[in-house]
Amino acid sequence: MISGKTKVLAVLGAPVTHSLSPLMHNSWLAAAGIDAVYVALPFSEAGFPALPNVGLFGANITVPFKESAAAMSVRRDEIAARLGAANVLRFDADGPSAFNTDAPGFVASLDEGAPGWRARVHTALVLGAGGAARAIAWGLADAGVARIVIANRTPARAEATAAAVPVAVTWPWEDLAGAFAQADLIVNATSLGLAGAASPDWPIHAAPAHAIVADAVYKPLETPLIAAARARGLATVDGLGMLIHQGARAFEIWFGVRPDVRGARLLLERALVGEAG
Ligand code: NAP
Repeated sequence: MISGKTKVLAVLGAPVTHSLSPLMHNSWLAAAGIDAVYVALPFSEAGFPALPNVGLFGANITVPFKESAAAMSVRRDEIAARLGAANVLRFDADGPSAFNTDAPGFVASLDEGAPGWRARVHTALVLGAGGAARAIAWGLADAGVARIVIANRTPARAEATAAAVPVAVTWPWEDLAGAFAQADLIVNATSLGLAGAASPDWPIHAAPAHAIVADAVYKPLETPLIAAARARGLATVDGLGMLIHQGARAFEIWFGVRPDVRGARLLLERALVGEAG
């Protein structure tokens, strides 16, 4: 029951109404018996100055506001400070605190979806150089991956991401087959494959037979890259795990409670099937 004491949390982005985060967080709030509600709010850059004063308890920040969220905060965790991007805000008495749970969230999704990956991955290929790619590359470097190859359509953005991440080098987007051939782990962190968007003919034939293939995109759950990898018999990790694990870390930051990630996967898989049907 919503009352005057109910805490309000939101995912802020543009666009944002497609987000699965309200479904996930409200199920966790109900399970934990916490008097709070989580909504999706279409947002604009002009809203940042007022944001600390609107009474939100916490927020997730999505495209394209992660850099501004880090910049407006009075304190940042190590990853948010290092990458200059935050996907979680907590509104403390003295101002907003910024966190980046995308990086550990992706690594947790690999731990869950490809157990033993740490021993098998020397070189990881990250496709893309936006916010997701940067967080994923940083998370992989932090997890001990020896070499990270960044391939992006716009070379300058690949260079900037590689400069922010230890052990990262760039590779030409025009030679994806060469990039796939040297990778023990291949991660799509571009928006290619997102429902309705075009997807290239990924050179999955060039990947080693032991390669693990992951996608940050989770709509559809089986992206063209994941489908091609499965058709070749490669191990795959879909993008839903990253969404759930970054969200679980956010929930812990806000409430100090570890939520049920397995239950969330079942819930969100059902929602995605419902949307597709
Ligand atoms: P972003 O900052 O806008 O970056 C988009 C990336 O996609 C850039 O590297 C861009 O390359 C590339 N790209 C877009 N269109 C392209 C095309 N036609 N050909 C080649 N490259 C193209 O977005 P983001 O925040 O990094 O998100 C990227 C994807 O990850 C999105 O689909 C998002 O839904 C997903 N994501 C998932 C999670 C999760 O929890 N699973 C979390 C965050 C993001 P240029 O630099 O050349 O433009």
